[in-house]
Amino acid sequence: MLPFQKNKSLKHLSTFKIGGNARLFTEVSTIEELQSALSYAEREGLSFLLVGKGSNSLFHDRGFNGLVIHNKISFFDVKGTEISVGAGYSFSLLGAKTAKSCLSGLEFAAGIPGSVGGAVFMNAGANGGETADALTEVTFVTREGTIQTFSREELYFSYRKSPFQNMLGGIAAARFSLSPSNDARKTQKEIISYRTKTQPYSDLSCGCVFRNPEGKSAGALIEKCGLKGVRKGGAEVSTLHANFIVNRVDATAEDVVALAQHVQESVKRDAGVELEMELRTIPYE
Ligand SMILES: Cc1cc2nc3c(=O)[nH]c(=O)nc-3n(C[C@H](O)[C@H](O)[C@H](O)COP(=O)(O)OP(=O)(O)OC[C@H]3O[C@@H](n4cnc5c(N)ncnc54)[C@H](O)[C@@H]3O)c2cc1C
Repeated sequence: MLPFQKNKSLKHLSTFKIGGNARLFTEVSTIEELQSALSYAEREGLSFLLVGKGSNSLFHDRGFNGLVIHNKISFFDVKGTEISVGAGYSFSLLGAKTAKSCLSGLEFAAGIPGSVGGAVFMNAGANGGETADALTEVTFVTREGTIQTFSREELYFSYRKSPFQNMLGGIAAARFSLSPSNDARKTQKEIISYRTKTQPYSDLSCGCVFRNPEGKSAGALIEKCGLKGVRKGGAEVSTLHANFIVNRVDATAEDVVALAQHVQESVKRDAGVELEMELRTIPYE
């Protein structure tokens, strides 16, 4: 039986440092533990939520009225150019390790502060690359606790979208196929250097709040509306990168949602463009 904690604060599980308590909380370090946690939620009729590094999750101020499962499955196996990795493994570290081993395909991952599971779920990407490009297989545990293995061909990904966003269960592991390249680390260093200059890494945030509309930059549209530095409560549109909302001082989820709505309304009014959220706002129920 897994240990469950009651009323666990979710604040520290999100890079935003925002959110109330989880009614129940557990950590899983193996696929069997993930099966057990999901089966428990199913048996008890509880809602459940998978959390990786919490770098794209805005938790509700009231928390989550169900079981929060913190994914810490973090094995890492390399066979030549094939990598099998647990869904709780750091995506940034995966990118750095593989590039340092002269393997190309995940250079963009260094600097994305998520887990592998979160990156697959979000189809995280940057600098022209995305998670689905190098992915070959995903191990998924259904809400009933059954293991399913999907090959890349069975899965349809698009910009920041994956089929897992419409599936109930948890991503347990992923497999990637990379290609040998002596330039991988050099390319990666250039990406990191650019990102650290243009993104507010030292502020509390969950990265870009909105998806880029087709052929446009959400950040540029927001900046053009003069919204950099605008605040609602403790939340602020970053003065460095307008597509980031930062937790400036004790922001609440309500502050972030109100500011995001204000941004959407302003961009719709001034530029005629509807911005769609990339950030996952996690409801209480
Ligand atoms: C400074 C900063 C820079 C960023 N830059 C980028 C960037 O360049 N590109 C980019 O795409 N993103 C970026 N992000 C956003 C974020 O890092 C990515 O979306 C990342 O993939 C989220 O992973 P996570 O583990 O933190 O997900 P979480 O926030 O933990 O979860 C996000 C969603 O995925 C679900 N989920 C998580 N793990 C699992 C699992 N194992 N099984 C099923 N569902 C799961 C959660 O329920 C939630 O709905 C940035 C964030 C920050 C803070």
